[in-house]
Amino acid sequence: MSVQFYNTLTRDKGEFKPLEGNQVRIYSCGPTVYSYAHIGNFRAYVFMDTLRRVLQYNGYELNHVMNITDVGHLESDADEGEDKMEKAARKENKDPYEIAKYYTEVFLRDMDRLHIQRPETIAKATEHINEMLEFVQGLMKNGYAYETSRGIYFDISKLDKYPVLSNRNIDEQIAGARVDVDEEKRNPYDFALWIKAPETHIMKWESPWGLSYPGWHIECSAMGRKYLGDEFDIHTGGIDHIPTHHENEIAQSKGLTGKIPAKAWMHVEFLQVDGGKMSKSLGNTYTLDQLQEKGIEPLAYKLFCFTAHYRTKLNFTFDTALSTQKALNRLREGFLKHQEGTIDISNEKIKEYEDKFLATINDDLNMPAAMGLVWEIIRNQEKSKQYAELLVKFDQVLGLDLVNSKQYLEQAKKVDLPEEIAELLEKRKQARENKDWAMSDQIRDELKEKGYSVKDTKEGMTVEKI
Ligand code: AMP
Ligand code: ZN
Repeated sequence: MSVQFYNTLTRDKGEFKPLEGNQVRIYSCGPTVYSYAHIGNFRAYVFMDTLRRVLQYNGYELNHVMNITDVGHLESDADEGEDKMEKAARKENKDPYEIAKYYTEVFLRDMDRLHIQRPETIAKATEHINEMLEFVQGLMKNGYAYETSRGIYFDISKLDKYPVLSNRNIDEQIAGARVDVDEEKRNPYDFALWIKAPETHIMKWESPWGLSYPGWHIECSAMGRKYLGDEFDIHTGGIDHIPTHHENEIAQSKGLTGKIPAKAWMHVEFLQVDGGKMSKSLGNTYTLDQLQEKGIEPLAYKLFCFTAHYRTKLNFTFDTALSTQKALNRLREGFLKHQEGTIDISNEKIKEYEDKFLATINDDLNMPAAMGLVWEIIRNQEKSKQYAELLVKFDQVLGLDLVNSKQYLEQAKKVDLPEEIAELLEKRKQARENKDWAMSDQIRDELKEKGYSVKDTKEGMTVEKI
């Protein structure tokens, strides 16, 4: 069965075939670890996870690299502003390495909560300074880079074509662009490869140009090349990476190796909140913890991501996310009902579902349609273990941890008890110890009126919200 992906570079959907044998080499732009990753960021990593899983489902082996940006990502993509890591370090009064360590750990823990598979290699920028330096020196040698008082810049006029990923017409943009403040740059769109560090900059390394640090784009080019070679299969990121970060990665690689590093460039559209942009100033850059506080599990957020195709905008509201949480629990209940089912389903029927599912996910990861099939199976009145097994198989792609449905549902029923209810339960416990059955029954009824049902089991008393 052929796998079709949309490629930003060719601007069309085409058949995917790995460059070499059965192995797919992927590079994903990872987080800048200066703060908590928000649900918008996680839309990008849920997409990355689905891509991995779909390729594996098709029998491919993966060699996947994701970077951790812990230096060099300036506040604006146009090489302006401060290094985000240094700014956070100053704000939190900590060492930037401490900041990076803390937010990397939280990020990886959140990935686990979303059941996002870890890429085979997770590469930190600060651990690849030599590779980056060599890359920049190679560009200098090839005549694609030059030195200014601020650092080393890439000369885009040396390329046969720039940009290649985005549709923008650079001449028009340059003509209309605001006056570029850096007069030392040869072309307004030249970008920083290596930045000379001001005295106060903490993260800096010796280089032929004095104490300095890498630009953001060079880390991905250098680490991608180190782990995946000059040419690999797929490069992923969010759509915001198209006009600058990925365009500049391509420029750098062409300058050093003469090649565009990845064959396919896949980009995920943005998550919006309440119909608009997410931003710190609007206070709507929610984290997984903030969702959890409102009763939305990380996996419900993942299911929410499947409600839109990755190349379309997705609008987050707490109302829709809460409905998705309910839907996730219905999915789990439906799965358990099939597990207990006894009806025998024909092999043809199962095969039909398998074929449809595969065709859907292979059509550029059409997860909303794949979920449509999953719901059709869940709602099927013929309850069958075969359907439960089929759902477990599909879950290799969904990554919703369906096999543990029972535990999740039990957990959901456990509630934090209000003080008044806890007191009544304690009173009932004492009544039972005193064999005062009338009192015990009376309290049970009182609890029922307040919306709680108590059961007496061998292990003791259990309580559930009705
Ligand atoms: P950053 O940590 O800022 O480098 O971003 C990490 C990833 O999240 C990148 O792939 C971005 O493209 C992606 N991203 C940032 N904001 C959003 C959003 N609102 N929706 C989807 N992806 C996003
Ligand atoms: Zn990158």
